[in-house]
Amino acid sequence: MPTISGSIAKLKASSTVAFNAKALEMKRSGVDVIAMTAGEPDFQPPEHVLEAAHEAIRSGMTKYTASEGTRELRQAIVDKHARENDLTYTPEQVIVSTGGKQVLYNAFMAMLDPGDEVIVPSPYWVSYPAQIELAGGVTVGVAASAGEGFIPDPDAIAAAITPRTKAIVVNSPSNPTGAVYPDDVLKRIADLCDEHDLWLLSDELYEHIVYEGDFTSTASHYPERTLLVHGASKGYALTGWRIGWGCGPAPLIKAMNKLQGQVTSNANAVAQHATRVALDEIELTRAFQSKTRAAYKARRDVIVTGLNDLGLRTPTPQGAFYVMADLTPIDADETVAATTLLERAHVAVVPGTDFEAPGFARLSYATSMEQIETALERIKRLLD
Ligand code: PLP
Repeated sequence: MPTISGSIAKLKASSTVAFNAKALEMKRSGVDVIAMTAGEPDFQPPEHVLEAAHEAIRSGMTKYTASEGTRELRQAIVDKHARENDLTYTPEQVIVSTGGKQVLYNAFMAMLDPGDEVIVPSPYWVSYPAQIELAGGVTVGVAASAGEGFIPDPDAIAAAITPRTKAIVVNSPSNPTGAVYPDDVLKRIADLCDEHDLWLLSDELYEHIVYEGDFTSTASHYPERTLLVHGASKGYALTGWRIGWGCGPAPLIKAMNKLQGQVTSNANAVAQHATRVALDEIELTRAFQSKTRAAYKARRDVIVTGLNDLGLRTPTPQGAFYVMADLTPIDADETVAATTLLERAHVAVVPGTDFEAPGFARLSYATSMEQIETALERIKRLLD
């Protein structure tokens, strides 16, 4: 067989996928595994969005659309950010892509030249460094500690800036930590981007899953140098529908669309229509978001208290649906600890290795309260 390209051969496979696969394999062989690995809501999408998808299929909204997304969806995105975030965009400043993932990939490809550095506070979501590497860039992690609730220190970010720095990524609420950065931290990071002429990439996919305090969009500080990354996956429970969007300066959006036009063209047309309805039918969508947020919050409280009571230190996250638990009482090596949890307690978690969170593991509580309580009982039995 001919060889695989060097850049893909050296690309790291995600440990989330590896642990998911192992959990699935155990399930298939009849073991009752509780999977706390998933990064997706366990709720069905709201009824009005399902209905809109049916309507799109029936009425023939099944053709290619403009590569950057339909005018109607981009207008709905403009209206959403004006209404909820007080941000002013035009449809030309919006691109719709196949999930937030493709928005991010387009962005790194459009921003970076070989050797450019991107500062990413850690623990971070595993796809940032992988995509930065694919775009020829270099990830510079700046560690945030559990003691600080995983909120990064802007002085440490400032100290990491070099003449090769091209962008800073912020992800609040964060995957994997659930941390919601205070606005003064976001403002200081945005100021650094302004002082050093950097792109600011703000991943806001978890905007609607915030339990305490108000969400502030980082883009509100310097919209002219910020790419706001958002999508339908998390807050609208539409993960498999693959709709993400980016809002930012028109030249950047145009460059991203140039790439997208050659790679995938438009995101799924049916899902674009359904997402437009999710954004425009605001009362129904808000009711769905309040209901799911309340369920996540109740689960968060149970899992954080439960893990801390078991001696597994777990900071209280203010958003998203993940907790980071210190597994060192099980084993100093987080991969060994996660493997022990999976094999002996039948609870699947993601070790922190790829998130740059040594000693920790990520547990997703986007699963039923009953499963969370059973998982806690199993972990207790293992520790006993
Ligand atoms: N950003 C973060 C922080 C995520 O956790 C995810 C998904 O897990 C994404 C972006 C991409 O989501 P999607 O491609 O489903 O829109």
